[in-house]
Order: sequence, then C-alpha cells, then structure tokens
Amino acid sequence: MKEYKPLNPLKVPRFSDIRTFWRLPYLKNVPKDVDFVIVGIPFDTGASYRVGARYGPEAIRSQSLILRSHNPALDITPFEYCSGIDYGDIQVIPGFIEHSYESIEKEYFSIIRRDVIPIALGGDHSITLAELRAIAKKYGPVALVQFDAHTDTDPDYYGHRYNHGTTFIRAVEEGLLLVDHSIQVGIRGSTYSKGEIDNARNLGFEVITAEEAYKTGIDYVAKRIQERVGDARVFVTFDIDFVDPAYAPGTGTPEVGGFTSRETLELIRKGLKGLNFVGFDLVEVYPQYDPGFITSLLAAHVIFEFISLIALNKKAGLEAKV
Ligand code: MN
Ligand code: MN
Repeated sequence: MKEYKPLNPLKVPRFSDIRTFWRLPYLKNVPKDVDFVIVGIPFDTGASYRVGARYGPEAIRSQSLILRSHNPALDITPFEYCSGIDYGDIQVIPGFIEHSYESIEKEYFSIIRRDVIPIALGGDHSITLAELRAIAKKYGPVALVQFDAHTDTDPDYYGHRYNHGTTFIRAVEEGLLLVDHSIQVGIRGSTYSKGEIDNARNLGFEVITAEEAYKTGIDYVAKRIQERVGDARVFVTFDIDFVDPAYAPGTGTPEVGGFTSRETLELIRKGLKGLNFVGFDLVEVYPQYDPGFITSLLAAHVIFEFISLIALNKKAGLEAKV
C-alpha cells in the first residue's frame, strides 16, 4: 500500500476525524511520489442563475467519507497502485472573476508542476478556464471530455466575456484545447437561441446530445469518447448537471431529461477507461439545493471512479514493464 492514502475505515470509523476528501492526508506541500491531488476551488461568481457552488468542495468532502477502499465494478483497489492527498482549497476572490482566474491559474500550476494529476472540486464551471490555462502552460493544448447538459460556449453574458456559460468558447479562442479530439456529452434543455448547439460544433467540438445518447446507448457513446480522444492527453470536466435533477438536484442550472446515476457511472467506466489523463474536475454542486446530500454523494462517487481509473492506468503501466 502507498504512503499517501485514506485512513483505514476498519480501524478509524468513517464518521470520525477531520473531513478531507476520502480522509486523505491534508498537505499544502505536494510530496514526491503522489499521483493525484484533490483540490477545492470554491468560486461561484461565474454563475448565471442560482448561486452557492462555493460550498461544493466542503459538501463533496463530507459525503466522501462513505467511500471504502475497493472498487468491485472496475476490480481495482486504488491505493495499491496510486497515492493521493487533499491539498485543501485554492485561494479565490469572491466577486472578481478575472482576479480569481489569475489566482487559480497560478496556485493550480504550482501543484501540477509536481507531475501530479489534479482533481478539482468546484465551484461553478467558470473555474475550468483557469485550470485549462495552467494545464496548457504545462502540456500545451489537450483534449477535453465534457459531461454537461450545456455546451458552455456562449460568446458572452450581459456583455461580459467570463462566466460559467462561456468557458469553452474562451478555451478554444485561447488555443488551450485540441478541439479535434474534444467531445461534449449530455447536452439538452432549452437554449437561448436556435443555433446554440451548432455553435459548439462549429467551434470544432463533437457534440452528443442527451437525445442522441438515449437512441444510441451507453456503449456507443463510450466508444465515441474513446475514438475521439485516442492517445491525446485529456482533461475531463464533469458538470454535475449532466445527471438528471431527480438524481442531482443540488446544482445551478438543472435540466430535466438527463442520465441516471447508474448510467453515469457506467459511461464513466467505459468511456474514460485507459485514457491519458492530465486532470479532472467536478463542478456545479450547490449544497443548499441538495436534499439528503444526494448530489454531493454522487459527486464523491464520480471522483471515486476517476481515482479508480488513474489506478487502473498505473496498474497497466506496471504490468507492461514486467
Ligand atoms: Mn457546465
Ligand atoms: Mn451545465
């Protein structure tokens, strides 16, 4: 077992001690031989409708206490192959998006320069632009897999360039993405205008709407993700509103007609398995709209799958060397 891992739930009960993600060690200095870092980005000034995602990281950490050590669905015990820490939260400046972008990019870059895979807890979806700026600074442009009810490619809101609905048009304009290897899945709901989904396609994204996904099925969508990304380095951004509000009501811009939590887990396991990850985030969890904590509970389990996928890659790398 690796050094940086969760407390043992059969020795220290899961409800006890301080609430980091999965009860990982809380460390502000990223040690050597750490594979992934959990980092909170509690910024919600980019939201266009409801507010409150600043409390998302805290809620996801609280619900992550239930996680145990083995993932039977992927047949992996993550901490046999990888190690991770919880960095706590990055400094944001509530009310000031451009200054927060600078602050997030700088601190996030100081983490990823240690050659770790960051897993960020949002925050609204505006934060992903700052993450991608830091990622591109380290790796150059990368592929994007975006699970979302929305394309987030609107040109502006209220005459301003930055909010959670403009993130990915800005990312394309700034040259942060390998757009030919990027894909958006789960798009649905009413739009501001007739051509909105086509706008995302015109930027170069492959877009699979929720309706197309129902018709073609999980296996087909998973295959499209795998083929689209190929061997490219990939950033995975998961907007919790991808999931139907019956399963994830605690979000900023809920859209009916989405995926169940079971379908979501299956698509993540099949669609992302073996990809060359450089980072993940999970955004748009709003605890004050979350009865029974079901949204943050699901978020914690989605991240459990991400960590399991990182571990599977590490295991495959070790086996390839033997
Ligand atoms: Mn989004
Ligand atoms: Mn969304």
